[in-house]
Amino acid sequence: MTPRTSVPGASHLECTATGETYESEQLIGLSSVGKPLFARYDLDAIEDFSMDDVAHRRADLWRYAEVLPVRDPAARVALGEGWTPLLESPRTANHLGVRKLWVKDEGQNPTGSFKARGLCLAVSRALELGAEELAIPSAGNAGSAAAAYGAAAGLPVHVVVPTDTPAPILEEIRALGADLQLLDGLISDCGRVVKKGVEEEGWFDLSTLKEPYRVEGKKTMGYELAEQLGGRLPDAIVYPTGGGTGLIGMWKAFDEMERLGWIGAERPKMFTVQAAGCAPMVRAWEEGAEHAETWQGAQTYASGLRVPGAVGDFLILRALRESGGGAVAVPDHVMADWVAKVGADTGVFMAPEGGATAAAVPMLMAKGLISADDEVVLFNTGSGLKYVGMTPID
Ligand SMILES: *Cc1c(COP(=O)(O)O)cnc(C)c1O
Repeated sequence: MTPRTSVPGASHLECTATGETYESEQLIGLSSVGKPLFARYDLDAIEDFSMDDVAHRRADLWRYAEVLPVRDPAARVALGEGWTPLLESPRTANHLGVRKLWVKDEGQNPTGSFKARGLCLAVSRALELGAEELAIPSAGNAGSAAAAYGAAAGLPVHVVVPTDTPAPILEEIRALGADLQLLDGLISDCGRVVKKGVEEEGWFDLSTLKEPYRVEGKKTMGYELAEQLGGRLPDAIVYPTGGGTGLIGMWKAFDEMERLGWIGAERPKMFTVQAAGCAPMVRAWEEGAEHAETWQGAQTYASGLRVPGAVGDFLILRALRESGGGAVAVPDHVMADWVAKVGADTGVFMAPEGGATAAAVPMLMAKGLISADDEVVLFNTGSGLKYVGMTPID
């Protein structure tokens, strides 16, 4: 069965820093204090949305329509996003010395990365609310996902990426009909170009957490984990963190799921993994800070992790803290080693970011943050095919 044809959508938006509320049915970016907005739902009023109710629904993220913001079914831009496999790997568990281990293979999403989830929701919502031209600064994968959903929605997309973005991703963005601009700089510099287009041309900005709905798409990974594990969550989630949307989204999903009666009060330990050459969250975590300073001279071949600063830094750090998790940084060549090891163990060709999650486990065990008795989920956030030709930097 598919979800009911139309859903109530969000009841309102809420500033993640001040709690100030906003009307949800308007095109909107950050809150008045420049912080991310979260969509809130009247969860107590939702009916026929138990785990059993959704069990036989369509095999994509729209199975969770009741907790997604899109009201009009005609605005759901779908390319097959979500409901990716959760693959148990006893051999990887054995190599790493943990009780059980799964790889959530997000490389199987449209455009080969989990960016599809977020951009699916952001573009659907922008379409529903009347945006006419979209723009995104990206380290690569968000750009191709935005291009894909823009094409499917019939909306023009401007994508601004660094010149050294992996070549397969550049070709992909071009083939999907977006206006591609290359910039000799980092994603933060690309953000400034988009900002100018927003001010001068009226583009709608799809930057990470600068509109409220990418995080709604990414949160569906949390719902899927609970469903795929038969109504429970793992002990630990290891997540390669750039802007942090997926980690923040799952943390939000767990609260919603508890309110909906899908899970109890237990939570997994949430772990952030970054590249040694760009680790602003790890540094902030080690300093016990609430916010992260911008990382200077960011470099790593894991382009999704080449994010020197994140507008949702305080939300990432809060989730790590509240969950009893932590953060570690991994050099590129160690990511590459684990891409090969996990590949040989599982049949999944991971992105370097996925390799980083496996590489992090021994470090987290050495710190006593993951134990041999733990059940662990690694997020392979993209397909290794998108990085062909890229080599480790450090
Ligand atoms: C963007 C990206 C990340 C980081 O994701 P965030 O949710 O922004 O932290 C990790 N891996 C890949 C492959 C990515 O494209």
